[in-house]
Amino acid sequence: MNYEWNVSINKAILNNAPKVNKILEENPYIRETAKELRNKKLDVLDNIDFYINKTEESVKKTGGNFHFAKDSNEAMEIVKNIIKDKKNIVLSKSNVLYEIKLRDELSKLGKDVWETDLGEYLVQINNDMPSHLIAPAIHLSKEKVSELLNKNLDKTINENTSVEDMVRAVRKFLMEKYLGSEVGITGANAIASDTGSVLLIENEGNIRIDTVLPEIHIAITGIDKIVPTLKDAFNEVIVQASYAGFYPPTYINVTSGPSATGDIELKKVSPATGPKEFHLILIDNGRKEAINSDLKESLLCIRCGRCYFSCPAYKYYGKDFGDPPYTGPTGIMWSAITAKKYDKSLLCMHSGGCREVCPMDINIPEEIERIKFMELK
Ligand code: SF4
Repeated sequence: MNYEWNVSINKAILNNAPKVNKILEENPYIRETAKELRNKKLDVLDNIDFYINKTEESVKKTGGNFHFAKDSNEAMEIVKNIIKDKKNIVLSKSNVLYEIKLRDELSKLGKDVWETDLGEYLVQINNDMPSHLIAPAIHLSKEKVSELLNKNLDKTINENTSVEDMVRAVRKFLMEKYLGSEVGITGANAIASDTGSVLLIENEGNIRIDTVLPEIHIAITGIDKIVPTLKDAFNEVIVQASYAGFYPPTYINVTSGPSATGDIELKKVSPATGPKEFHLILIDNGRKEAINSDLKESLLCIRCGRCYFSCPAYKYYGKDFGDPPYTGPTGIMWSAITAKKYDKSLLCMHSGGCREVCPMDINIPEEIERIKFMELK
């Protein structure tokens, strides 16, 4: 095992696990909400076409644009058609954006594309891939980060620079990028089918800017993120944040169509101060096929990242247990669904710790066992 990785992961576990336990103890409603959410998500999977159509209708009612992509190539074509010759693009952390290789593809077209989540920014300047769903730069030590920032951003940064000063330097750089940004591209933590709303949860404040400052906001996510109602969508983001160790979350962003105002004679007019265009791109990329297979349960995952810290294979192999961006126990399932990659499942030791902590009560070891059989077939 790599020593640096061993130290980073153990620090992360010591910081995160007690925090999540405390949140759940102090807020018993969260476990109940998770149970309710599981049933709602199962209902969506059982009636996926109905909910996709309903989401489309709802997005259009808000004045937004709805797109459906069957795979990564289709999703990228849709993005290119929307952004056309616009050059300055800001991104917020999303595994689906990696799934469709969005940053690489846009960079090849000569666009100026920047990750605005701090961890993702570090991954970007390290020409790297994320190692955890919600903590993409967990594998980078403070010393390594100072080296990266020194090389790419500010020559005054060194290994004695405080974390606060490093964050300040990145913030200054990103503020300049925001001011010139024309398109903001985000993922989504939940999509409310009844209102067409996109919910995004965060602590840094970057998503809030990505979704409001540029004149075009594009949200790209999988069909698995649909839930029946806006209330369910709030439940999903609260459960996800809690099991990730961030409760209460600093920001919950709700986007329902482009910006609008009703301030003159209560007549709704769009756009107002925020984006003039809103696009939701829902991507299938193997998900519908998975609904009708033995991997249906995997699609209940809300990407809280909790299972990673109970997994001996992830602790040992790090991001090699999976295929980035999808790593760890949940990553084995997502790589199988979206990329038909099964080989890393063979590293799973079936400790069962992942199932014990999963808010969606997914039988992860059983899902991984099925994936092992797919690899060995
Ligand atoms: S499998 Fe469960 S614990 Fe792991 S990220 Fe998904 S919801 Fe969270």
